[in-house]
Amino acid sequence: MLAKKRPVPPKIKKDARPMTVQPSASDLTASSEKNLAAPRWRREEVVRLFELPFNDLLFQAQTVHRENFDPNEVQVSTLLSIKTGGCAENCGYCNQSAHFDTGLDASKMMEVERVLAEARQAKEAGATRYCMGGAWRSPKDRDMPMLAAMVTGVREMGMETCMTLGMLSDSQVATLKEAGLDYYNHNVDTSEAYYDKVVTTRTYQDRLDTIERVREAGIHVCSGGIIGLGEDEGDRADMLMTLANLPVPPESVPINMLIRVKGTPLGEGDNVDSIEFIKTIAVARILMPTSMVRLSAGRQAMSDEMQALCFMAGANSIFLGDKLLTTDNASVSHDEALFAKLGLRPMPLAR
Ligand code: SF4
Repeated sequence: MLAKKRPVPPKIKKDARPMTVQPSASDLTASSEKNLAAPRWRREEVVRLFELPFNDLLFQAQTVHRENFDPNEVQVSTLLSIKTGGCAENCGYCNQSAHFDTGLDASKMMEVERVLAEARQAKEAGATRYCMGGAWRSPKDRDMPMLAAMVTGVREMGMETCMTLGMLSDSQVATLKEAGLDYYNHNVDTSEAYYDKVVTTRTYQDRLDTIERVREAGIHVCSGGIIGLGEDEGDRADMLMTLANLPVPPESVPINMLIRVKGTPLGEGDNVDSIEFIKTIAVARILMPTSMVRLSAGRQAMSDEMQALCFMAGANSIFLGDKLLTTDNASVSHDEALFAKLGLRPMPLAR
């Protein structure tokens, strides 16, 4: 008879620094200066994580996850398009760009009351964060009073607020902060080196500048990227390293799987490899241990098994609702069934 061998868990590599502690926003100045001299993560460390055997990477990511979060809680957000289409930017994946003919009907900014009615419904469905997205290069100053009223109204319902409106000036950031905005979303999308293959109407630095402006005003940052733009693993490593090495890493890191939309430059192409996507989630979790890593666009094309592996890799936030701005999302009933199957619970609001 064969003797039973005790399984040996894979070792966590010391040099991968799974327990990196992220600085708080109040550490910003000191850490910013320090960061210039010594980035929190070096490129070879990030590349080494991507090169780990899949099981070792997942074990390491899940270990980091458990040290910082309840592994069975997932934060639930809802996203609403408050101004659709007609955007002056030319992001190659986006059906809201005015540069591409995708058949999408552009619309003006929604009235405040309608946004608040939608937010009320989202709250009843279990959302604790309400995200509002406007397809702009940057909003006009005349739009700011209405945007501020949306933020204040949603906050009064007891939900966290998030907006994504494009580039912001200092005074626009100040208006949103005063209205009570909790998070501002501004994705870096991909690596700096690959950026001009995706969008040419702005630079990577423009993106980083708005993120810095938002951070300095004391608004939490939500910033992540998209997998499937034609980038390679090195670009994914660079993108995550950029985010993790910001003076204060984003509190929320959405990782999107490209939804190909006909009529956009990235509308045709191969599907993203599931394992590559899950690895990106795992590396994001290890690099930014205390951030919410959000499994964002593309979930409707993922199997339950793939989503379960993403949660195992450290994803702990999703968008709930049948629509994500203008593209389809997994249905609410499917998500409820998936949560029940996996024993997941919505994360309560920490306020
Ligand atoms: S800035 Fe936003 S809305 Fe405008 S084209 Fe890019 S992704 Fe689309």
